[in-house]
Amino acid sequence: MSSESKKGWRKIPIGGVIAQGGTAREYKTGEWRNFIPVRDKGKCINCMICWVYCPDFAIRADQGQMVGFDLNYCKGCGICTTVCPVKCIKMEKEQK
Ligand code: SF4
Ligand code: SF4
Repeated sequence: MSSESKKGWRKIPIGGVIAQGGTAREYKTGEWRNFIPVRDKGKCINCMICWVYCPDFAIRADQGQMVGFDLNYCKGCGICTTVCPVKCIKMEKEQK
C-alpha cells in the first residue's frame, strides 16, 4: 500500500472495528515480500495442497489446476514450499 492511500487516524473507526467484510483485498501483501515462490511446473501434481494452506489466497487455480501465484497478495512466507508434497516450489530472493 502506498503512503498516499494509508488512512490517517481520524478515518479509522473507533476501537479499530472492521465494519465490513472483504477489506483484506485492499492490502496488497505482496509489497512485504523479499522472497518469491517459483514452481517447477513439470513436477507439480496439482494436488492443490498449496492452495489450501496459503494464508493470503495467493495460489491461482483454474479448473482444478494450479496455474501460478497472485503476486499482488503473495507475501513470500514460504508455507507453500513447506507443504508441497513433491517439493516443486522453491523460494528465490526477489530482485526489486
Ligand atoms: S509464499 Fe506464502 S503467501 Fe506466497 S503463495 Fe506461498 S503460501 Fe501463499
Ligand atoms: S502443493 Fe505442490 S504439487 Fe500440489 S498443487 Fe501446489 S505446487 Fe503443485
